[in-house]
Amino acid sequence: MFYLGDEIATIKLMPQLRQNIITGEWVVIAPERAKRPSDFVSAESPKPSLGENCPFCLDNELYKKESLSEFETKDIYVIPNSFPAFVEDPQNCSPRSFKVEDGFYTTRPSTGGHDVIIIKKHNLQIFGFAEHIWEDLFLVAKRRYSYYRKDCNVRYSMLIYNQGARAGASIYHPHAQLMASNIIPNQISKEIHGSQSYFEENGTCVFCDLLAHEKKQRLRVVEETESFLVFTFYAARFPFETWVVPKRHSAHFEQQQVSLLRELGQLMKRVIGKLDANLKSPALNFYLHDSPATVGKADYFHWHLEIVPRVSTYGGYELGSGTIIDVLSPEEAAKYLRQKSA
Ligand SMILES: [Zn+2]
Ligand SMILES: [Zn+2]
Ligand SMILES: [Zn+2]
Repeated sequence: MFYLGDEIATIKLMPQLRQNIITGEWVVIAPERAKRPSDFVSAESPKPSLGENCPFCLDNELYKKESLSEFETKDIYVIPNSFPAFVEDPQNCSPRSFKVEDGFYTTRPSTGGHDVIIIKKHNLQIFGFAEHIWEDLFLVAKRRYSYYRKDCNVRYSMLIYNQGARAGASIYHPHAQLMASNIIPNQISKEIHGSQSYFEENGTCVFCDLLAHEKKQRLRVVEETESFLVFTFYAARFPFETWVVPKRHSAHFEQQQVSLLRELGQLMKRVIGKLDANLKSPALNFYLHDSPATVGKADYFHWHLEIVPRVSTYGGYELGSGTIIDVLSPEEAAKYLRQKSA
């Protein structure tokens, strides 16, 4: 529903992809996800919802009616988002269809899928996830990636997590999301373009070279396990921007073995624990980047996870220029994060 003043319009608005005619970048216009236009005026942070009013708690209708039972585990269940940014459209297979609007702009229906991956326990924030919850989260995500890989409308899947109102979480109950889109997202296009150029020039994967360099130099390393290196990113866009990169080259997340994802889960508990201990439970996002579902083997792209504590906000220059001024050096950030563990 879309509200105009006190009048409730009865048209159900579908999310729509619109292309920036100047830069070529895509945006999703999803009015279903908002309430009234006036809600944007000095919006306040959402208060933690109480158990009985929480849409994601197990005694709610959403769990009973919408849970995708084959993806449910002891600690996690999955539902389709009630206000999706990308809508499942099994009747039509047209991932690249577009339309010219008003004889001028380029638009597409915003199709694909939008999951909410919910941790069953209401009061558990990300800092309190046990190892088995972390492991489950990545194992369930892997199975949802495989599911969307078979959907011909989906060109890209991305697992994301929003912790805290400052990081975009609107519901207190712990949950991740998986957005499956019929576009390659803007940031991914940039990473693909850059890593392809690097490959053409050097004949190697830029992420593999980056790993080797960070491992040798150890200036920015925060954690290391048998299969992963965790480090603050050299050209960080945010203070404490931290990358988790698998040591073995592989382009696709859903092709990873269960044992590797268990190791990732155990590692994430420690890394998020470090952020908690050193930054006092900061708002944060993490997201997973891998090669598009439509691409086979990719020697130039290497899946990875990026963690961004939301301890700073962008000012006018960052928004106006796209060039970020990060006020903390990644070397200092790594040193600080190495101090305490949870
Ligand atoms: Zn709840
Ligand atoms: Zn690589
Ligand atoms: Zn990335």
